[in-house]
Parts: sequence; structure tokens; C-alpha cells
Amino acid sequence: MIPFIDLQRQYALIKENLEASVIKVLRSGHYILGPEVTELEKALAEYAGSKYALSCASGTDALLIALMAKGIGPGDAVFTTPFTFVATAEVIALLGATPIFVDIDAKTYNIDPAALQAAIDDLPISHPELQARAVMPVDIFGLPADYDTINAIAANYSLDVIEDAAQSFGSSYKGRRAGALATIGATSFFPAKPLGCYGDGGALFTDDERLLALFQSIRVHGQGSDRYDNVRLGITGRLDTIQAAVLLTKLQIFPQEIEARQRVAASYSAAINAAQLPFVTPSIPDGYVSAWAQYCLLAKDREHRQQTIDKLKASGVPSAIYYPRPLHLQKAFAHLGHKTGDFPISETIAERIFAIPMHPYLSIDMIEKIVEALK
Ligand SMILES: *Cc1c(COP(=O)(O)O)cnc(C)c1O
Repeated sequence: MIPFIDLQRQYALIKENLEASVIKVLRSGHYILGPEVTELEKALAEYAGSKYALSCASGTDALLIALMAKGIGPGDAVFTTPFTFVATAEVIALLGATPIFVDIDAKTYNIDPAALQAAIDDLPISHPELQARAVMPVDIFGLPADYDTINAIAANYSLDVIEDAAQSFGSSYKGRRAGALATIGATSFFPAKPLGCYGDGGALFTDDERLLALFQSIRVHGQGSDRYDNVRLGITGRLDTIQAAVLLTKLQIFPQEIEARQRVAASYSAAINAAQLPFVTPSIPDGYVSAWAQYCLLAKDREHRQQTIDKLKASGVPSAIYYPRPLHLQKAFAHLGHKTGDFPISETIAERIFAIPMHPYLSIDMIEKIVEALK
């Protein structure tokens, strides 16, 4: 069976440095906020092109800390996409705020700026009790959302923009890197993300020194001048030093891995389109570089997708569906009162989409075998 993501290949490649760096932490005894954490934060900020980066315990915590720093809570509306991993809207609802879903663009699967504008204008009618506060676009499958347009719309209404870059670290938009495309960026180092550690991890990005100070405080139980001075409510949101050491090692090969992902994606699309297979290949607008967290195809309909997945499985090719059900139709968000048909593009894409193996170490042979299995 071909692996969906091959973390073993990567491990073999960096084994020596990686194990040495982890053993160094084990021997140092600095398991919490050791020097590797600060070193990683500098390297992350430099890579993303933001002034500051702050590591944290997961991508979900990064989003949560971002919203908490902005004081978002009951009575607040946060605009986001229903076509994403549950964490995006979950953190909004956890804080007592209301996720206002906005449908996606049919080609990029990212939040549709025109629909966002309409949802903002409609809020006083649809939810007169809510105050519009923020937009949380997601860079789905590694492709950044349209930030120039989104940031301009948000600025007109004094809304904050929080980039869910959990899948897109390493991608870029008009020459700027993901994480640094909005007021706040949040990413994840879950093992399967483009830059993954060996457990859970995440990071926040900002150019705003005051926000950085808030993130730091919230990350450690709302600490003030020291740990036992608690000036606000916070969480246990730190990244382990061992995970920082892992990430520092992986960051060294990350730029080549992002390059390799471009080659894999280009080979897939070229082979699928050359063979005129009945699938829609990913569409990457000019000026965008995806981090290719996933390589997703669209089948003709739900039935065609199931036939394809079965056929792949019979040939030893794994596949996955991201995401089979948009968030507005999940039980966890039933309190929002949505129904089928509310976000038709998200619903159609959820019926047709499937992902095939994607990682930087896919050989041309493997790619050919996978495309052959699609025929
Ligand atoms: C993975 C993911 C998250 C959450 O990250 P964790 O590190 O798993 O908490 C949030 N948003 C999106 C879009 C994700 O893909």
C-alpha cells in the first residue's frame, strides 16, 4: 500500500540531527520554554516574514489565543467558512461568539470575498443582536485565501482578520508568506501538516507588539509580571521544548520540501489532464503558491467519487475526503439553525471532493502508478 503521507521517509532523512537535538533537550532538563522555543520563534517569524511569532500547544490553541487577545466573546460575530476543519468555527463558539458562515469560491474552495461582503452587509438584518468583530479566512489545503480583497473589506468595517494558516505554512500570496497575510496568523504543527512536529504544536504571527504581549500572557494562564500574577484568564498553551527542537530540525529541509510538493502537484495535474480523466484538478490563481497540505480532485458527483475511491483502494492507493460534511450541517453547530442548501457551493464540493496521496517524497513512479489507478 502506498502511504498517504510518508513521515518515515522524512524521518530517515533527518534522523541524526533530529535525534541529537531531542536528546540535547532531554539532557538539559528545560522541558518547558527552553532555549529551543525562543530560537524556533525567531526562525518562524523570519520564515513567515512577520515581526513576531509565538509558539503554542496546537493550531486550535493558536486560533483560540488570537480570538481571546481580541476580546471576542458573547454577542460577537466572526465570519468564516463552513468548508474547513471543525477547529476553525469551534474556537469561535467555545468563546460564546457566533460563527457566521460564508460560502466558498467554487475554484479555490476558500471564502468568497463577494459573499463575505454580502454577509457583513446583511448582519444587521440577519442577526441584529450581534456585533461584527472579525473575519477568519482559512487557507484550505495550503492555498491562501484572497487577502488583499478580504483585508480591504474588513478594513471598511473595522473588523480584524485572523488567518487560519493551519494548512498553509510555507505557501505564499503575491510574494508574502502565509501566517503574515492578516492582522494575526495562526498555524498548526500537527504531524500531517506541511510543517509538522511529533505531537501537537502551533504558532501565532503578528507585527503588533501589543498583541504579542497579549498572546504571551494568555499562553500562560493570563500571567502578568510573573506566573503568580494573573491579570486575565488564559490557558496552558505552551509548545514543548522537545517539539521546538524537532521543528527547528525540520525547518532546515522545509524550503526544499515545499519545492518538492510543487513538483508532485504539477506532475499530478499534468498527468491527469493529459489523460483527460474526468476529474477537476486544483486551480491555483496567478501569484499564489500552495503549500499543498492536500492534493484534492473533484469527481463528477458523489457516486463517481465513491467508485473512484473504491477503484483506488483495490489498486493499493489510499485516499481521504476533506471534508465530507460542511460545518453548518454538523450536529455541534445545530444551535446555529442552518439547513441543507444554506451554503450550496460548500455542500456540492463536499459531495465531490477527495484527496490522493501528497507528500514531498512521492516519486515519479509512484505518481504514475496513482494516476494509472485513477483511469
Ligand atoms: C489542523 C487544523 C486546525 C487545528 O490545528 P491543530 O493543531 O490540530 O489543533 C485548525 N484549522 C484548520 C483549517 C486545520 O486544518
